Amino acid sequence: MTENRSTTVCVVGGGPAGAMAALLLARAGVEVTLLERHGDFLRDFRGDTVHPATLDVLDQLGLAEKLHARPHHKIGSMSMIRAGKRRELADFRRLKVKFPFITMIGQWDFLDFITGEAARYPNFRLLMNSSLHDVLWANGRVCGVRYRSGEEDHELRSDLVIAADGRRSVTRAAAGLHPRAMGVSIDVVLFRLSRRDDDPTEGITLRLDGGDILGLIDRGSYWQSFVEIPKGDGIRALRAAGIEAFRDTVARLAPFLADRVGELESIDALSFLDVRVDRLRRWHVPGMLVIGDAAHCMSPVGGVGVNLAVQDAVAAANALTAPLLRCRREGIPVPRSALAAVQRRRTPPTAAIQLLQRAALRVDLNGATAGTDTAAEDGAGLVGKLMGRLIAYGIRPERVREKRILAPAGGETER
Ligand SMILES: Cc1cc2nc3c(=O)[nH]c(=O)nc-3n(C[C@H](O)[C@H](O)[C@H](O)COP(=O)(O)OP(=O)(O)OC[C@H]3O[C@@H](n4cnc5c(N)ncnc54)[C@H](O)[C@@H]3O)c2cc1C
Repeated sequence: MTENRSTTVCVVGGGPAGAMAALLLARAGVEVTLLERHGDFLRDFRGDTVHPATLDVLDQLGLAEKLHARPHHKIGSMSMIRAGKRRELADFRRLKVKFPFITMIGQWDFLDFITGEAARYPNFRLLMNSSLHDVLWANGRVCGVRYRSGEEDHELRSDLVIAADGRRSVTRAAAGLHPRAMGVSIDVVLFRLSRRDDDPTEGITLRLDGGDILGLIDRGSYWQSFVEIPKGDGIRALRAAGIEAFRDTVARLAPFLADRVGELESIDALSFLDVRVDRLRRWHVPGMLVIGDAAHCMSPVGGVGVNLAVQDAVAAANALTAPLLRCRREGIPVPRSALAAVQRRRTPPTAAIQLLQRAALRVDLNGATAGTDTAAEDGAGLVGKLMGRLIAYGIRPERVREKRILAPAGGETER
C-alpha cells in the first residue's frame, strides 16, 4: 500500500456519467478526483450518440460549439424499413430546438473532450489506469476508496464517493447495493461494414424482415450495425448456423450491403452485447451515490443510455454542490437527504423510459417474429410518435444550475 490521499469527491468511472459529474463539480469549485480503470477512453462499440438534451447541457456550459469543432456526424431521424416501406420512428429535424439532431461522435472523443474541459480546473484530478476494488468505511459511512494502479494499492479518502463505473459496477457491489434485473428478450450482435458514397442516406434505420432486425447507423465512412438475436440461445444458434448464414441475413435485410458482407470474417469477429435492463432500489448509502448505468442499465432501444447518464450527472451536481462546499467549510458530512434527492429526481424519468423501452421491444419482436405485420407497424407508429421527443430529451431534462465559480487554469492527469 502506498501514499494515502484525500479529496472532497471521488468519482469512480470515467464514462459519460462520471466524466460529466466531475466536470460540473470541478467547475463549481469542488475538489474532485476521477478514477478510471483504463489507460484511455478508446473502447469500440459504446454509445456514440450525443442527444439534443446533452447538447443543451453542453450549450449551458458554453461547450456545444467546441464539441462540434471535433469530427462528428449529425443524424436527423430514426426510421424503420419493413417490406420496402419506410416509416419515421423519430424526426428530430422537426423539433423547434437549438440542436434538432443527434451528434454522432466516438464516445472516446466525447470523453476526452469532457475530461479535457474538467482538466482546465486546478481542483480536478484524473487518475487513469486506476481500478477501484473496494470502498472504505468509517462509522457506517463510505469515506473513500481503495484502488489499484499498476502493481500498487492506494487509498483515497473522500467526503463523497460517486459510483459511475457502469453496468458491472464494482463500487455499488462493494457498498452492498445490487440492482433488480428486468427481463428482456434480446441480445445484440454488433459489427461494422464499410459505407460507399452511393449508399442510401439512412440516419439511424431499423430494417425488419421475417423476424430479423438489422440496425444501421450512418457514420459517414462506415455503417455501425447491429442485429438482434433472441436472448439465451441466440448466440449458440448463430454459431451453429455459421458466418455465411449471418451474411445472408444481413444481405437480405439490406440488399445494398450484399456486395460487402464478406467483410464479416467470422462469427468470432462479431461483438456481442448482453442486453440488460436493471435498476437499483436505492441509489445511495451514507457517503456514496450511484449514477448512470451503475444505477440503471438501459436497453439499446433509442440509444438513450449516454443521455440518461449525463442527466444523472447534472442532477447530482445540482443537488450536491452546495452540501459539498459546506461539508468542506464546516466539516459537516454530506446529508443523506441530498443523496436521496438525486434518486428522487432521477428515478421517475429513468423508470418511465425503461418501461417504454421494454414495451417497444415487445412490439418489434412479437410483430416481426409472429408475422403480425399490421400490429407491429401500428405499434411502432404509436410508440414512434412518443419516441421522437422522448429520444431527444427523455423525461424531465436537467438544466445546469450551478454557476462556474472557478476560472479554468489546469488540473492534473496521471496515467
Ligand atoms: C455495445 C454498446 C452500445 C451502446 N450504444 C449506445 C448508443 O448508441 N447510445 C447510447 O446512448 N447508449 C448506448 N449504449 C449505452 C451507453 O454506452 C451507456 O448507457 C453509457 O455509456 C453509460 O454511461 P456510464 O458513465 O454510466 O457508464 P460507462 O459508460 O459504462 O462508464 C463506466 C466507466 O467506468 C470505468 N470503470 C469500470 N469499473 C471501474 C473500476 N472498478 N474502477 C475504475 N473505473 C471503472 C469503465 O472503464 C468506464 O469508463 C451502448 C452500450 C453498449 C455496451
